[in-house]
Order: sequence, then structure tokens, then C-alpha cells
Amino acid sequence: MRILVTGGAGFIGSHLCLSLLGQGHEVLCLDNLYSGSKCNIQPFLDHPSFELIRHDIVEPILLEVEQIYNLACPASPVHYQYNPVKTVKTNVMGTINMLGMAKRVRARILQASTSEVYGDPQVQPQTEKYWGNVNPIGLRSCYDEGKRVAETLMMDYHRQNQVDIRIARIFNTYGPQMSIDDGRVVSNLIVQALRGGPLTIYGEGAQTRSFCYVSDMVGALEQLMACEGVHRPINLGNPVESTILSLAEQIREATGSRSEIRFDPLPQDDPTRRNPDISEARRLLGWEPEVDLEEGLRWTIEYFEKLLRE
Ligand code: NAD
Ligand code: UDP
Repeated sequence: MRILVTGGAGFIGSHLCLSLLGQGHEVLCLDNLYSGSKCNIQPFLDHPSFELIRHDIVEPILLEVEQIYNLACPASPVHYQYNPVKTVKTNVMGTINMLGMAKRVRARILQASTSEVYGDPQVQPQTEKYWGNVNPIGLRSCYDEGKRVAETLMMDYHRQNQVDIRIARIFNTYGPQMSIDDGRVVSNLIVQALRGGPLTIYGEGAQTRSFCYVSDMVGALEQLMACEGVHRPINLGNPVESTILSLAEQIREATGSRSEIRFDPLPQDDPTRRNPDISEARRLLGWEPEVDLEEGLRWTIEYFEKLLRE
């Protein structure tokens, strides 16, 4: 198939492009290289079935494809808050452009949504039925509300124009190819531990996240795309919940680092707990994450060790 991956030069997108190429597909990677990089796609940049299109999804584009994975959007709070208006435009105008393309060429389209649509959830664990608890005017809202509107657009194009949609609510995902200055917790703590500097914990570190290794996530996205008739949002993530403090301790141990832990102020609206109920993904896709945190962290640490050596 001819498949478009927007955000294909980013962290998850680059793993997805590689996997799709491995299955014999033709892959068009559309990216403005804002938070992604050519380094991520370097190993297959010259592959005959791969093409990089440097383009911003906020601007319309005409392409002929059979499937669209819409991943273009900075995912780290540091990156998406740098230019919040642009983050809203990417999620709203960019998603409209991709849905317009899907409608025109009758392509199936998968939207990379997020656990952030649940905001600071008051229900544990989060099921797809939960409507969330989002501050509409806070520092995270450009991303949270942007992704919520993107889900609305997906559902309305489906109801109004019969576009064949998939919505993946992705929970925290980590692994090799996160950028070194990405600002997200796993890459930050690993790089700090390897450099011997203090591990920065925001708040007391009692807040939780549930971390999914990237190969598990890519498998889930492909399975959701392939599954017939699933037009509702589906949670994808690893349901094992950790506090940020325990993550820091685990990383310090796995790297053999003697870095101290430094407690910095907690950012505004930082969700207190986050944990996916993945019963729907299990039932509909037969999907289950396979890589546990210990193993996934080991591989991610090896990646950053090599990167820092180079
Ligand atoms: P990332 O920042 O590494 O990748 C995003 C990619 O999109 C980058 O290559 C960036 O250059 C590109 N991009 C950004 N704005 C663009 C625009 N206007 N036009 C074209 N390209 C643009 O992030 P990621 O972790 O790989 O996340 C990929 C997708 O998955 C995002 O949509 C994100 O919201 C979603 N997601 C990720 C996580 C996670 O934990 N990694 C969790 C929930 C949702
Ligand atoms: N965090 C932290 N230290 C860091 C980066 C992040 O303690 O150096 C915390 C952050 O406040 C949040 C959690 O780790 O509670 C996850 O942050 P991340 O930016 O990775 O993703 P989020 O799930 O908040 O979007």
C-alpha cells in the first residue's frame, strides 16, 4: 500500500515508517522537522519505497495514498508550549487538511490522539467512556483541547462524509529516538543520569504515568489501523503505573549513576495520575504490551549511551 505518515520524522513516526517499509509498503513521510529530525529517518532515507516531504500540515497538500497515519504534532510539553497557537493550528487546521485528503482519495485515516484528552483524570483507570477533566484555558490546553477538537473532527467527517477513521488515544510512550532535548521525563532523566547531573523531578514525584515501549505502540497503531469497523477512540498504552520518583530511582539504578535527585516546581495542571484501561484494545485487537519497563528502559539507556558517546 501507499501510506502517508505525518510526523514521520518524529519519535513514534520514525519507528512506524521503518516498520511499514519492512512490510513492503511505500511510505510517504510528511514532516516540517519542528520536533523531529532527519537523523531519525537517516537509515532508510535512500530506501526506494521511502520519500520525505518537507511540509507543514497546516498548509493544504495534494497526495494520493491509501492510508494516513496523522502523527504530526509536537508531543513534549516543552515543545507544544513553545508556540501554543501553532500547536492549535497543527491539531485543527492540520487535521482538517488530512481529513480532506482522506475524504478526497477515500483513504483510511488514523489520528494520533492522546491520554491528555482526559486532562487531570478523576477516574482511575481511564476508560474510553470517561469524558475527562481538562482546563480549557491553561498552559496545556493548546495540546489537550487541540487533540479533543481533532477527535471531534474525525467523528464528524466520519458521520458527515463516511470517512473511514481510527482514533488512537496514546498514553506515555518512550524509547530510542526520543530527542535528547525533548524535555519529556524518560529522556530527561536518562540523559541527566548518564551525564551525572541532578535528576529533575517536578513536584514531589508522587504523580504517576504508565509507560509504553515504542515497539509495542507501533504494533498497536498498525493493528488498530488494520481492524475493520472500529471508529471509536481506543486507549493504547501500558497499564503498569509508576510514580515519577520510582521511575527516577529505577533509572538511577539501571544506569549505575550517582546523580542526586533535585525537586523542581510542578508545572501548572500537571496530571496527578494517569493509567489506561486497555480492555477495548485487548478485546478488539487482541493486543497486549509485551515489553516491561525494566527491559524498555535498558534499551533506551543503551540508545542514549551511544548517542552521548558519539
Ligand atoms: P514528536 O514530537 O517526536 O514527533 C512529532 C513529529 O511531528 C515531529 O517530527 C515534528 O517535526 C512533526 N510536526 C509537528 N508539527 C508539524 C506540522 N505542523 N506539520 C508537519 N509536521 C509536524 O512526538 P511523538 O512522541 O513521536 O508523537 C507523535 C504523535 O503521537 C503526536 O501526534 C503526539 O501528540 C502523539 N502522542 C504521543 C505520545 C508519546 O508519549 N510519545 C503520547 C500521546 C500522544
Ligand atoms: N517530569 C519530571 N521531570 C522532568 C520531566 C517531567 O518530573 O524532567 C514529570 C512531569 O511533571 C510529569 C511527568 O514527569 O508529571 C511526565 O512528564 P512528560 O513531560 O514526560 O509527559 P506528560 O505526561 O506530562 O505529558
